[in-house]
Amino acid sequence: MRVTPVSGLPEVRGGDDLAGMLADAAEIGDGDVLCIASTVVSKAEGRHADLADYEPGPRAREIAARLESLTGDEKDPRFAQAVVEESEELLMDAPFLLTVTRFGHVNVNAGIDRSNVGGDADLLLLPRDPSASAARLREAMPADVAVVVTDTCGRPFRVGQRAVAIGWAGVPASRDWRGETDRDGHELRVTVESVVDELAGAANLVMGEGAGGTPAALVSDWSFGDHAGSDELFRPEETDYVRQALRGWTYEAE
Ligand code: GDP
Ligand code: MN
Ligand code: MN
Repeated sequence: MRVTPVSGLPEVRGGDDLAGMLADAAEIGDGDVLCIASTVVSKAEGRHADLADYEPGPRAREIAARLESLTGDEKDPRFAQAVVEESEELLMDAPFLLTVTRFGHVNVNAGIDRSNVGGDADLLLLPRDPSASAARLREAMPADVAVVVTDTCGRPFRVGQRAVAIGWAGVPASRDWRGETDRDGHELRVTVESVVDELAGAANLVMGEGAGGTPAALVSDWSFGDHAGSDELFRPEETDYVRQALRGWTYEAE
């Protein structure tokens, strides 16, 4: 497997032909996986937003006031409003906003970025439907590729952020090892490998997080292999016991 950074791209703007820009910048071949930072997918889709355009409702004002009293830092109720509007559900409102986005991904602040936003906007919202974005980008490519849209996210239990897949097309989200055997001949009963997250992580190693200007990476010489696949990535709430436990939990300041 090779992971090649796609560099030399300009600042991406609303309405740009991102697929064309990526196709020109990378040597894309059949069977490759093109991993693209959600940041530039959002930019091309014009998902910039301005704090001034948000009118904070009572919930947003309450969230901002509580966060401010807990952290001592000034919190903008208009930002809380943007997060509320981009979320299906708030799992935690303190000491930070843990959200379920409208497309099912759990993250902080509904994935709204305040860095690498570009132009004059304050905020960059995630694509509305990242798998639909991935499918459109895939269709527009000059070769038969898979597309993974990535975003950098924190995770519970572990320090530090990493990229995960928030949208994908042309490759199943997971490869299912259940029914196959380990080296001792025991049947695997639970292992479903989230390959799109692994691809996103590998790609992010060369994309970086800062001013590097590498918003995509091409994975070549990798194949899904002869396995069953699944497109389930976002855990359904009925079997998400951690999510259920969080609903009954409230942050208490020390
Ligand atoms: P996120 O993980 O999707 O939120 O994206 P990041 O803000 O971490 O950016 C990922 C990579 O894309 C970094 O190397 C950025 O410098 C780069 N990047 C972000 N926006 C642009 C852009 O408009 N043009 C180019 N060329 N690179 C960008
Ligand atoms: Mn992001
Ligand atoms: Mn990132």
